[in-house]
Amino acid sequence: MFPLNEKGPDQGKRQMFVYAAIVIIVILLLNMVVIPAIARRNIQDVDYSTFLKMINQKEIATAQINSDYIYFSDKSNPANYYRTATFNDADLVNRLMASGCDFGTVVNKTSFLESFFFGWVLPLLFFYAIFLLLSRYVMKRMGGGEGGGLFGGGGPMMSFGKSGAKKYVPSTTSIKFKDVAGEEEAKQLIQELVLYLRDPKKYADIGASCPKGALLVGPPGTGKTLLAKAVAGEAEVPFFSIAGSEFVEMFVGMGASKVRDLFSQAEKNAPCIVFIDEIDTIGKKRDAGALTSNDEREQTLNQLLTEMDGFEGGKGVIILAATNRPDVLDPALLRPGRFDRRIPVELPDLEGRIDILKVHAKKVKISDNVDFGAIARTAAGASGAELANIVNEAALRAVREGRKFVIQEDLMESIEVVIAGYQKKSRVLSDKEKLVVAYHEIGHALVAAKQSNSAPVQKITIIPRTSGALGYTLQVDEGDKYLMSKEELLNKIATFTGGRCAEELVFSSITTGAANDIEQATRLARAMITQYGMDEEFGMVALSTQSNVYLGGDTSLACAPETAKQVDDTVVRVVQQQHDKAMQILNDNKSKLHELAKYLYEHETITGEEFMAILEKEPEYLVEK
Ligand code: ADP
Ligand code: MG
Ligand code: ZN
Repeated sequence: MFPLNEKGPDQGKRQMFVYAAIVIIVILLLNMVVIPAIARRNIQDVDYSTFLKMINQKEIATAQINSDYIYFSDKSNPANYYRTATFNDADLVNRLMASGCDFGTVVNKTSFLESFFFGWVLPLLFFYAIFLLLSRYVMKRMGGGEGGGLFGGGGPMMSFGKSGAKKYVPSTTSIKFKDVAGEEEAKQLIQELVLYLRDPKKYADIGASCPKGALLVGPPGTGKTLLAKAVAGEAEVPFFSIAGSEFVEMFVGMGASKVRDLFSQAEKNAPCIVFIDEIDTIGKKRDAGALTSNDEREQTLNQLLTEMDGFEGGKGVIILAATNRPDVLDPALLRPGRFDRRIPVELPDLEGRIDILKVHAKKVKISDNVDFGAIARTAAGASGAELANIVNEAALRAVREGRKFVIQEDLMESIEVVIAGYQKKSRVLSDKEKLVVAYHEIGHALVAAKQSNSAPVQKITIIPRTSGALGYTLQVDEGDKYLMSKEELLNKIATFTGGRCAEELVFSSITTGAANDIEQATRLARAMITQYGMDEEFGMVALSTQSNVYLGGDTSLACAPETAKQVDDTVVRVVQQQHDKAMQILNDNKSKLHELAKYLYEHETITGEEFMAILEKEPEYLVEK
């Protein structure tokens, strides 16, 4: 990077200017120092007596007398040039004439045209060639350059520093949704974008503007990139793909111009998809005045935001982005009108893993009696990429063992190779942990379901989540709720404690898994007392103030220390009461708890309907006996 102090949108131009200046300086040095030095190398230094001897022998063809040196050439070999220091020799010229020597230019024989060619034209051509090679290399590294190739369009000079975004021409081989196994939720959410891209006019006619951007969020290797390509494949539109890191490269100011170029290309090819992979590299939060602030990145991000705003909805360009670190993204990126749609692409559950294994098994020769279910169960917590890798490793193993197709054992063996290799990176739960998490999550759900006022459970899963939670119980309130009654809030607290209760009840020991539940339960209980005035003892007195509503800031107590102590005691009491209530509920439904937990342990995901079906089913001992 060049330490340029100026910053501005035309930084790229300045950059070019600096490069041009450097080239000119190099050429000047070449002309003034290097070329004369090379010329001098052909001249032999001789002493004056040799010179005199050569005069006497009439061997000198041409002589040139300067103030410092006498240059002369040899008659027998005119290509030889000699030089000797000028002496105070008054008669020299006469003697030279007598010896039949010419006077003329011995050195510096090159004509102006020649020196111009060697001193300027050739080096310039040379630099230009380097420049071309470099830019071609850069383009290649960006993995692009069909279409807007180096020698097409505005010529090589013009295309240097273009976005290098790949343009996928719709083809029969392109990826379709069926190539993305599992991920039904994500596919469903993304379906609307496909419909829109197929016929943007239909939407424009009715005046609806489609979302401009969607953000695919999920752990590495879950198929985010794959899904984005599938959208393009399904909609049969061009696909511009670029990785976030490619924006931050080589030259200062290049990133912003790449963004500009990418979007202008996209606009020309609408309807189309622009896909920015790993957007967190440029989309990190811009923090004010931090030491680590990166102006280049910030400029690129600003340009991206500007371009997204400048896009009108009806143009038929959809911007997809993928990241596995949504938490570090700049909030401005997630604002409505930008990446306001978030599409979670989570690790696959059992069904998903089986499907993914099957998709990839199609690419290898595989024995008919392979039990994909068993393999998927063993590879709990593996991502799509890992599963693809498992199949490939199995094929490699089959070759090593001299077999013509893959068998069950190959797959089983490769799970260990792949998962062990990845263990540090992704988390795979042990069986015991899985069981504990299953009971914990069912504990939440059961307590929620048994309390009449709690919202029904929609989905429970024990697949480790991006957030780091080991499992979760998704509860969706029926319709939007702005008002919550005291009972509802208390039930909610009971639900939060339900996870820990189940652990206590079943394992008689507790784990760290409830930390977040405890925090939420405590916060809710505190809010009930200090903000909502729901405690008989304190009544309708606001005991706390909220520091910053927009930033979701914390509340701070605004009361006397004695009152604060009292509040703390009440919080403890409220949570304790609800904990006891949850314990009671679970104790009363112990058989259902076991049944549901076993189901969840085996299936890893359970929907609300499945849950309710099991819950409402007659107990087994009544049915069977
Ligand atoms: P991400 O972008 O989320 O890190 P990728 O889309 O690059 O993951 O996935 C890497 C590879 O893993 C894909 O090329 C594909 O072979 C495999 N893969 C991941 N998820 C799936 C899936 N749901 N179905 C089929 N293959 C998958
Ligand atoms: Mg990716
Ligand atoms: Zn919990």
